[in-house]
Amino acid sequence: MDFQKLKDKYAVHHINLEYFPTIVEAKARVQALILDGQVVGIGGSTTLNEWGIVDELRNRQIHFLDRFVPGITPAQLSEVFHQSFNADVYLSSVNAMTEEGELVCIDKNGNRIGALLYGPKKVILVVGKNKLVKNLDEAFNRLRTVAAPANARRYNLTTPCVTTGVCMDCDHPQRLCNMEIIIKGQADPSRMTLLFVNEDGGF
Ligand code: SF4
Repeated sequence: MDFQKLKDKYAVHHINLEYFPTIVEAKARVQALILDGQVVGIGGSTTLNEWGIVDELRNRQIHFLDRFVPGITPAQLSEVFHQSFNADVYLSSVNAMTEEGELVCIDKNGNRIGALLYGPKKVILVVGKNKLVKNLDEAFNRLRTVAAPANARRYNLTTPCVTTGVCMDCDHPQRLCNMEIIIKGQADPSRMTLLFVNEDGGF
């Protein structure tokens, strides 16, 4: 992968792409991008949990809108989701990124994709190399054969993809991929930073 070429593709779309050989360096960059005192929201990302970023945020002098607090009630979670739209910084991952400079996400409730699209002043995305695909066809294939079934298993759902391992485009009441978005660019070139990590992480 020619990283400079990839960076240029995203730069055309006003998304600042930075490369990190390991998650250790990427995590240090996340901490540097977040300033003390800021309000920080976070998406429901396996990547951020797996890599210990959530724990690091809990130890910062920030107003962390922590959606993963043990015992959080549905009402409290909803409040955190709403507050996150006004955060100074929103931290998340995506389900796929293309070599053409596009980002693709699925969502059940819409809180994550809502915040990615508009609201938080800054968005930081941490994305592992396992999510890099050639184009949008491959991105949606990844969503339906990897990301959505893996997320369904993570939440112990009973959707058909849990047993088949691929999307059956179900009408199940627990369907988690109610929404799909493609981010092709940003109006504000300083808003979105994508930290590309040359390690696998998340779905
Ligand atoms: S639409 Fe249904 S079957 Fe397909 S990935 Fe989503 S939850 Fe699974």
